Amino acid sequence: MSAAMRASGKGVVVLSCSDPRLNPYQILGLDHTLKATMVRNAGGRVFDAIRTLATLQTIGAPGTIVVMHHTDCGLTHYHDRDIKDALLQFAPADAHDLIEATRFGEIIDVEDSIREDVAILKASPLIKNSTRIVGLSYDINTGILSEVK
Ligand SMILES: [Zn+2]
Repeated sequence: MSAAMRASGKGVVVLSCSDPRLNPYQILGLDHTLKATMVRNAGGRVFDAIRTLATLQTIGAPGTIVVMHHTDCGLTHYHDRDIKDALLQFAPADAHDLIEATRFGEIIDVEDSIREDVAILKASPLIKNSTRIVGLSYDINTGILSEVK
């Protein structure tokens, strides 16, 4: 991937999970000479990164957006119901409807979540049609990175 990026001269935005076990620069073989911008959130989910991804492409000119999710992600173990129940424990009563209505990004199957997020980006009117969207699955145990189509 880094060789292709170097050749194109275009930047890449990498959306990945905020899990501290992940080092996207190392996983993707990126260094400071490449125009790589990191966006991280719980699970690396697109739906709460869309504002940032849309904004970044108006400031820079990323040729590629990478969506990278990983095995053993917290969101594969801790689902929306668990998160809602935990939040309901301390949130004031007037926030309960908001909590129930919020999607927290649970991941049932890593490849499915990557496909869903790639599809959201491809369908988004806020992302240029010319932007290449790449979905990657990272196996945190083996270190194997695979493209998800
Ligand atoms: Zn994760």
